[in-house]
Amino acid sequence: MTPEQQAELRKKLESMSPEELKEFQKKQCIFCHMVSGKVAVKKIYEDDKVLGVLDINPANPGHVLLLPKEHHMIMPQLPEDELQHIFKISKQLSNTVLRALDVRGTNIIVANGPAAGQRAQHFMVHIIPRKEKDGLEFSLPSHQYAEEQLEQTAQVVKQKLNALLGIDEKPVPKLVDDEFKPKEEPDEESDEDADDEDADDSEDDDSDEEKTDDETDEDDSDEGDDSDEKDSGLDLDAIGRLVNG
Ligand SMILES: [Zn+2]
Repeated sequence: MTPEQQAELRKKLESMSPEELKEFQKKQCIFCHMVSGKVAVKKIYEDDKVLGVLDINPANPGHVLLLPKEHHMIMPQLPEDELQHIFKISKQLSNTVLRALDVRGTNIIVANGPAAGQRAQHFMVHIIPRKEKDGLEFSLPSHQYAEEQLEQTAQVVKQKLNALLGIDEKPVPKLVDDEFKPKEEPDEESDEDADDEDADDSEDDDSDEEKTDDETDEDDSDEGDDSDEKDSGLDLDAIGRLVNG
């Protein structure tokens, strides 16, 4: 295509409505031609929403391409019901190739966008039968990231997802009242468990102190300290019973 023709095509595409653009893409799309029957395929499965065909250049024998019959380029363009259906059928096709062919596993792959290696203009799910040492390599690198970078990424993604899904995330309430905390019988625990409980109780003590300082005067703080001692005493007794008994 000459630069003039490219410029003309770009101008034509830009002037199209979304519907016209989709029709134009469908006319160019070889997978839409498979769906309409203009291109011959090795059909594995068909219903009103999807078509499953054998890849003519398979990664492994039995490599299935599962296509939505409607033309969509990338996953977010598929309506929810079509998306659910295509993955439901992917699962069944995966189970079927495992039973029908002498294979031990499958890779279910979606290349979503050119940056992810998508070459076709039509969304599809690849179901690739696998055997041990079949020569296919899908090795994902394993990088190290700083804790704060992981945390920052988690927050950014979570906030965006919550906004998209309309989830109003509430902070988890902090338990400060002892009556909500389950107490375990120290007698039934091993020495190790008793030590753990001792450590837990010192955390409890901290929250008691916070509460006391916030809500009451100095005398009450002293009472808080007394109860700390009482708690420690109880645990020492429990440990003593375990050691002696
Ligand atoms: Zn298409």
